[in-house]
Amino acid sequence: MIDFNKAPYVGTEIEYMRQAAESHKICGDGRFTKQCSRWIEERFLAQKAFLTTSGTTALDMAALLCGLEEGDEVILPSFTFSSTATSAVLCKARLVFVDIRPDTMNIDENRIEEAITDRTKAIFVVHYAGVSCEMDTIMDIAKRHGLLVVEDAAQGIMSTYKGRPLGTIGDFGCYSFHETKNFSMGEGGAILLKHEKDNERAEILREKGTNRSRFFRGQVDKYTWVDFGDSYLPSELNAAYLWAQLEKADEITADRLHTWNSYHDAFRELKEQGLVELPFIPEDIVHNAHMYYLKLRDLEQRTDFITYMKEQGVMTPFHYIPLHSAPAGLRFGRFHGEDRWTTKESERLVRLPLYYGMSEQDREHVIESVISYFRK
Ligand SMILES: *Cc1c(COP(=O)(O)O)cnc(C)c1O
Repeated sequence: MIDFNKAPYVGTEIEYMRQAAESHKICGDGRFTKQCSRWIEERFLAQKAFLTTSGTTALDMAALLCGLEEGDEVILPSFTFSSTATSAVLCKARLVFVDIRPDTMNIDENRIEEAITDRTKAIFVVHYAGVSCEMDTIMDIAKRHGLLVVEDAAQGIMSTYKGRPLGTIGDFGCYSFHETKNFSMGEGGAILLKHEKDNERAEILREKGTNRSRFFRGQVDKYTWVDFGDSYLPSELNAAYLWAQLEKADEITADRLHTWNSYHDAFRELKEQGLVELPFIPEDIVHNAHMYYLKLRDLEQRTDFITYMKEQGVMTPFHYIPLHSAPAGLRFGRFHGEDRWTTKESERLVRLPLYYGMSEQDREHVIESVISYFRK
């Protein structure tokens, strides 16, 4: 059976974890955590990056740093993972879902403005499959209406929009290092801050409401409880695991891109015959090969396809059930405007196996199975 995903593993993870263990410093913010966050800052020219315990808690921090409060509204796509929404709900904000674009499956930047009310405080965008949203338009809307922008770049590390790394364009950017993402630490993530003014509040939030980080820098002579907060620091053991993969970030990305491009080339003919739709990458956007998906005719054909592929020994899962139709989505939000694409497009999307180190043989088997489905 060819699995849909295999957690990335480059081979040096255990050695770095051993070094962390033998240093007897395995709580947060040690050597490996610092190496990882500095790597993110230098590589993506991020003003500040902090590792977190997950992509979800990075989003939680972003929602808190936005200062979301009861009654505030957040605009977001419905075609996303619960994490994007639940961070705003924790702050008691209301969710306003808007439709996606059928070509990229990202929030439709032309539907955002009409959903803005005098309660709107932030726009949470999701870069689906590591392919950027139309950020110039979105940042312009935010600027004109005085809104904050959070990038859920859980799938978008290493991707760029007009040369700018995803996660560094909005006021806050969030990465995930879950085992299903391009680089992993088991469970983990990072938050990127654009503005220096947010640095101190972020440190306090992450350190249980204390000014401990300032204390370690010698800026105060003892640390104390100064505000509300939580614990968002991952262990050094996890950071050591991640460091091994960040060191090989280019190699991992090139390997994933090779599989992505092989799929894309192999299915071009099916696309030209109108049998299937393939991912669309807009101009000026570089993607990280986070995901390869196909769009079939409808839900019925997708169900048939998944069954066929399973018989060929290939796992091809579908993806999100739109949040606005989920029980919590109904409770915490509303859909603004017409659901022209969200439900329809989500019902016909299916994902193909794609992971670091996928063998040529497995890749060929996936390709042949897909082609044989449409030729049968
Ligand atoms: C994976 C993912 C998350 C959550 O990340 P975790 O690290 O699993 O908490 C959030 N948003 C999107 C779009 C994701 O793909």
